[in-house]
This record gives sequence, C-alpha cells and structure tokens, in this order.
Amino acid sequence: MTEQFDAIVIGSGLGGLTAGAMYARAGKRVLLLERNAGFGGAASTYRHGAMTVEASLHETADPRRTIDPKGAVFEALDLYDEIELAPVPDFHEIRGPMLGEPFVLPHGFAAIEAALIARFPHQKKNAKRFLRHVRRSLRALDFVGGGHSALWRIANAADFPLELWAVMRDFRSSLSDVLQRHFGDDEAIKIALAANLPYFADDPDEFWWLGYAIAQGGFLQGGGNYIKGGSQRLSDRLAEIIREENGVTKTRCTVYGVDVDPDGAVSQVRYEDSESGGSKTAEAAVVFANAAPHVVAEMLPEESREGFAESYRDKPLSISLLSATFGLSRPPAELGVTHYSTVLVPEWVRALSDYKKSVEILAEAPGDKMPVLTVVDYNQIDSDIREDGLYAVNVVCVDSTENWEGLDAGAYEARREAWRAAILARLDQEWPGFEAAALSSTVATARSMQRHLNTPGGAIYGFALRPPRSGPIRPPRQVETNIDGLWLASAFGGGGGFTGSMACGAAAARGALAQEADKR
Ligand SMILES: Cc1cc2nc3c(=O)[nH]c(=O)nc-3n(C[C@H](O)[C@H](O)[C@H](O)COP(=O)(O)OP(=O)(O)OC[C@H]3O[C@@H](n4cnc5c(N)ncnc54)[C@H](O)[C@@H]3O)c2cc1C
Repeated sequence: MTEQFDAIVIGSGLGGLTAGAMYARAGKRVLLLERNAGFGGAASTYRHGAMTVEASLHETADPRRTIDPKGAVFEALDLYDEIELAPVPDFHEIRGPMLGEPFVLPHGFAAIEAALIARFPHQKKNAKRFLRHVRRSLRALDFVGGGHSALWRIANAADFPLELWAVMRDFRSSLSDVLQRHFGDDEAIKIALAANLPYFADDPDEFWWLGYAIAQGGFLQGGGNYIKGGSQRLSDRLAEIIREENGVTKTRCTVYGVDVDPDGAVSQVRYEDSESGGSKTAEAAVVFANAAPHVVAEMLPEESREGFAESYRDKPLSISLLSATFGLSRPPAELGVTHYSTVLVPEWVRALSDYKKSVEILAEAPGDKMPVLTVVDYNQIDSDIREDGLYAVNVVCVDSTENWEGLDAGAYEARREAWRAAILARLDQEWPGFEAAALSSTVATARSMQRHLNTPGGAIYGFALRPPRSGPIRPPRQVETNIDGLWLASAFGGGGGFTGSMACGAAAARGALAQEADKR
C-alpha cells in the first residue's frame, strides 16, 4: 500500500530534521526516512563500551549572542526551552613552536583585541583594523538578513555603506588574501587567528574569506557552545517535533528511488525498510533531500538525472575529518589540560598556508610528522555527557577518503590502529600521563564518515566554501533544485556545520511553503 504525505525527508541529518520539523509545524504531514539505526547523521552521539562518544560537535554559536541563522529555527520550534547550550569559556588555546608560549584566544572582540596586542604589540594597528573588518562584515550580513524591524534598519542605516563595502571588497578573496593584506608575512598572528581552520577547511588559500568572517566571526563575537547532553538531544527533539505534528519518522529505511511525474515534479519515493522488511512507496509533492545531491541523482529516473546532477558536477567537496575519542580514568585537567579546546600546531607548520599539507599525512603510516590536531576536553564545561566514570576527550584532524584507498580490510584496520596509537602518544607527550589514563578509545576516519553519512568523499560540510574568483556573484545558499518539489535540505544546500545545515533546512521548508502559497 502506498502511504500519502505532504512531504518526505530523505535522511535525518540536521538539515533534513530542520526542514521536516519546520514544515510539520506549518500543519503538514511529514515522513522522515533514515538509513541508519538512529537519527541525526553527524549530529549524534553513540556508546562505545562504557564511553559516550560525540560524533561531531565541538562548538556551535549561541544565536542569542551573535548573528546566527539558527536563531530563527530555535524560535520557530521553541528549541530554547528544550535545548541547553553550555558556553565554552575561552575559544581555544593554541600550542606550537610558531607561537612560543601557548596563546589563548578568548571570546568577544574587545578581549581578543587585548590578547592579540599583548602577544603581538607590533601588530596593534593591523589587529584593530582586521577585527573591525570582521565586525563590519558580520554587521552587513545582519543588516541584510531578515531578523530586524524597519525601525532598527533606519536607526542603523548610517553605518551600512561602510559595512557593505567590507563585504564587497573581499567578496572574491580567500582567508589568506585578507590575512596577508593585514599582517604581511607575520605567520604567527595569522595562526593565532585561524589555528582552528580544520573546523571549516584544509587550505586557507582556497577558503572563502566570507566563510571565515561569518563562521569564525560569529564564534569570536559571541563564543562557542556545546549542546548539553550531546548533539543527539537536538536531533532527537527535531524528530520528536515531526511526530508531535502527526508525522512519521523511521530509521533503517534506505531510499533508493525518487519518481518524477510527466510534468517534471516529484511524485513519490521508493525505499527499503529493513525493520519490517521489503520495498515500500510513499507519495508526496515535496521531497526534502538531506542525502547528498550525488546520492539523490542516482535515485532519479534516467531522463531527469543528468539535468539534476549538472548543477553540482563541478563543485568541489568540503573536507572530511578523522575523529578519535579517548575515555580517561581521571579528569584531563589533572594531567594539565587547561582548556575546552586546544589546537596542537606541529613544528613543520611554518606558515598558515602549510595547513594544506596536513591532510596527506594520514595517507601513510605514522612517521615523524603529525597533522594539526584539535583536542576537545568535554569535561572542562558542563557538557553532561560523562557516564560510568569515563572522561571523554575528542581529537580531530583533516582527512580524506583518498588516504585510505586501495587498503583491504586488514590493512585499513592496521593503519587506523597505528594512527590511534600515534595520536595517543602525541597527547601523552603534551600531557604526560594521558596514555596511562586512557582506558577506552575509538577512531572514525574519512572512510567511516562516508559510510555513516553516505556523503561523497565523507564530506562533512557539503561543498567547499571557495572564493568565487570569477563569474557572476551568486548567493552561496541554493536549496531549490531544477526538479519541481525537490529541495536540498543539508550542508550541500550551501554552508555546513550545525548552523549552516539547519539554515539550509529552514530555507528549504520556507521555500516549499512559499511555492505552495504561490500556486494557490
Ligand atoms: C567529527 C566531526 C566534527 C564536527 N564538528 C563540528 C562542530 O564543532 N561544529 C559544527 O557546527 N559542525 C561540526 N561538524 C559538521 C556538522 O556536524 C555537519 O556539517 C552537519 O551536521 C551536517 O548535516 P547535514 O544536514 O548535511 O546531514 P548529515 O549529518 O550529513 O546527514 C545525512 C543523513 O542522510 C542519511 N542518508 C543518506 N542517504 C540516505 C538514503 N538513501 N536514505 C535514507 N537516508 C539517507 C545519512 O544516513 C545521514 O544520517 C562536525 C562533523 C564531524 C563529522
């Protein structure tokens, strides 16, 4: 029997969950289908023995403290009542020979300016100019965003030309371009400002300046936060909203077909339900694709496939990450870990542009070079994820599925284990006693990301945010597709991370509702 819905969501990553929940709250009946055993995609937590593992989240902005499109979603879905954000005290500590003594990047533009001037007094003027440029770019986006009244706009219009100029001037610039203009060849201050680049990209020369200004600028302005209890809480709450609004959410259901009617509009999806067994169909005039467009293309009828895939063919993919979690018998603070987030910059990094060489290190067995590592100690804040006395610490570095190509199962496991041991040894070198305290550990590579998320290359932020060096200037967020009723509701809609994927999901739901209203 074919069931009927107003919309079907393919995949339960944050973009799909947000689109489904927003659409359901508008009085629509939604079916959400997820191929994994739990909801959330990257935004999930799981158990590894006695340890709770956060699959992704280190930090996300608090919409109440900075310009953040998640705010509209949190308000529309009353998430502030359900989801508690645990603030991170300082943004991070950076350790590495390039900087000498560890450098702490605090939150808030005034505190950041003071910290930069204290460490780099010769860059005082440039640091002030740089932070002003970031602030102006953020404010321009706030001004054009839909979050303010006409009165607010009139009151704030005087500064707008300068703010708009900040955005337009660097619309085609990379992060490296803008850092170079402000700081010349002073690589230490560049690393002080962008040590956490692997949160977004692998190569500062190819990372869009506005991506940095918006994402990093939001963190610098309002601070980072962890979702208390783990990112699974947010994913589960969004799935619950769909059910509260008379919708249906199913796990272990893999969509393999999206049918299109003779007018070129989506009509139904076909999926394999491994819970109850067998193939099923469900009809809807709206489909929110949380699965990557490359995956969706294969679901479409042959005559629609080419036209759909064409739009995404030449777009480079974002990075993937290797993520290792260690369960310690004692609080990491007792071993000398002082911050929630610590970036370990290896000695071979002599310039920020060297970061691009980090990814290829994992293509070999561990040798004398370590990748740039970001270490997060969830026990430094009120994260509420510790269970059974194990203190979880997560470490990420940029990875690529190419690093693991051509390895059979045995060789893959051996290399993965070698990297687990090498990372642990590096942490022990930084904080003696770390290795002896680590009772449990697990490592997910780019290959694991690809398997878990079903994204090409294990991409975790959708498409790469590259500077648009030439050609027409187009908005980075594009959730509408060339097929009537089919919307991208994932990081691939333009902008990944928790904020980007939720913003894409919300834009897809709003787009579908507006299109429906137009048709009436
Ligand atoms: C290790 C790590 C650390 C990260 N740290 C941060 C951080 O600190 N801050 C931050 O903001 N972001 C972080 N991110 C990125 C962030 O988690 C992602 O960008 C975001 O969650 C992606 O959401 P999405 O909507 O694109 O869907 P995804 O999470 O990519 O999920 C896609 C879902 O679709 C499902 N699916 C695919 N194909 C099908 C099919 N055929 N049928 C049914 N279902 C299907 C998949 O199973 C999956 O559940 C991190 C990610 C990782 C992996």
